[in-house]
Amino acid sequence: MGLFTFRKKVKPIVYTIEECPKCGRKVKRKFKPGDYVYKEGEVCEKCNAKMLITMIYAETPT
Ligand SMILES: [Zn+2]
Repeated sequence: MGLFTFRKKVKPIVYTIEECPKCGRKVKRKFKPGDYVYKEGEVCEKCNAKMLITMIYAETPT
């Protein structure tokens, strides 16, 4: 065991989950600046309703 332990620095990747209130479609995409929960997202591919951001979270890559 050495004094200096090598620590891998991993940057967490932030993801945004958008959910369609109409059909329940969920889309996971990378976080974009300005995103916040309950903000209107993109238009749903399935039913053309405005999707809603329901979750923003960080994932650390392994
Ligand atoms: Zn939809």
